[in-house]
Amino acid sequence: MGKSRKRRGWPQLPVPLAGKIVDNHTHLPLWEEQIPLVEGVRLSLAEQLERAGQVGVSAMITSGCQLDELAPTVEVSEEYPQVFCALAIHPNEAALHEKVVATAPDGQTYQLQEWHRQYSLEAAVAQVYAAATSAPKCVAIGETGLDYFRTSPQGRQAQQQGFRMHISLAKELGLPLQIHDREAHADTIRILLEEGAPERTVFHCFSGDKEMAQVLAEQGWYASIAGPVTYNANQWQREAVAAMPASLLLVETDAPYLTPHPHRGQPNASYMSVWTVRKLAEITGRSESEMAGQLLKNTREVYGEKISGFAD
Ligand SMILES: [Zn+2]
Repeated sequence: MGKSRKRRGWPQLPVPLAGKIVDNHTHLPLWEEQIPLVEGVRLSLAEQLERAGQVGVSAMITSGCQLDELAPTVEVSEEYPQVFCALAIHPNEAALHEKVVATAPDGQTYQLQEWHRQYSLEAAVAQVYAAATSAPKCVAIGETGLDYFRTSPQGRQAQQQGFRMHISLAKELGLPLQIHDREAHADTIRILLEEGAPERTVFHCFSGDKEMAQVLAEQGWYASIAGPVTYNANQWQREAVAAMPASLLLVETDAPYLTPHPHRGQPNASYMSVWTVRKLAEITGRSESEMAGQLLKNTREVYGEKISGFAD
């Protein structure tokens, strides 16, 4: 933020990375209205994927995490060779499936949609199970977890139930788990330990501090790092990254949110993960190509061989 000239429109293409990487967590647009309209321009999905390929982001995992997005997410992964998917019921959705509607700490009250009325949380998770077992390119269960910012305290029980269901689903299917943990670090760790974490457990958009990074390191859990690590004010996040073994780091955009510096305020897309990789290289004292190589290796360890064919 601050002194630099205000940038507008879709961010320009960064200089290509000195290596190939995978965007470990994003939300690709499933229909046109999901693409931000910026100065009259929507960058089409095809164009976003083209740009990603041009700068070294050779594959991505898109998360479908509400009931109406499961089928279209699977479809997009079937349409494009470089797109893989993660499926779940998001923690904020979990509360709505249990019909909890109350004002959240973020000041908003979320409305029940048709799919919340029709499906209990248990029935919704059963749909995730069905989609995940039939989709050949589903490589993870996620994002699931806890969000104490966007959901009222009344919704916490439903979130915790949903989180436990997804942990056991990931273990049953032998898939990695992508966790959303917003202002709920202690309960997230507690529930993982109580249930027994899946063999490959990833904190998506990791937002813990140095002490929490040490917990992840001890447990062998992965920290997937998004744009906020590039923001000037977030020195504490860079310290957390520095406390992680490089073998447990992943990179993601969480697009269309969390655009990295120096494009904060503009829309995000997978091609922008380049900026975050460069910051990770700087923090860990690696060259850009070493960092990219390490991140790709870690990605393959978590998501398996399926994903690697497209990243060579
Ligand atoms: Zn996400």
